[in-house]
Amino acid sequence: MPTYEYRCEKCKKEFTLRMNFREYERKKVKCPRCNKGKVERLMATVSVKTSKKS
Ligand SMILES: [Zn+2]
Repeated sequence: MPTYEYRCEKCKKEFTLRMNFREYERKKVKCPRCNKGKVERLMATVSVKTSKKS
C-alpha cells in the first residue's frame, strides 16, 4: 500500500498516511495534530512495485 506524506499548513506538522488509491481519492486529509484540513502533499515517496505502463 502506498504511503502519502503531508504537511499541515497550519502547524507545520508532517505526517504520513498509508492508504490505497481509492481511499486517497476520497479521503479528506486532516492534520492529526490540529485537525485542520489545510494540508499539503509532500514529495511523493510512493513505492509501488508495479511499473507497468500500457
Ligand atoms: Zn496541523
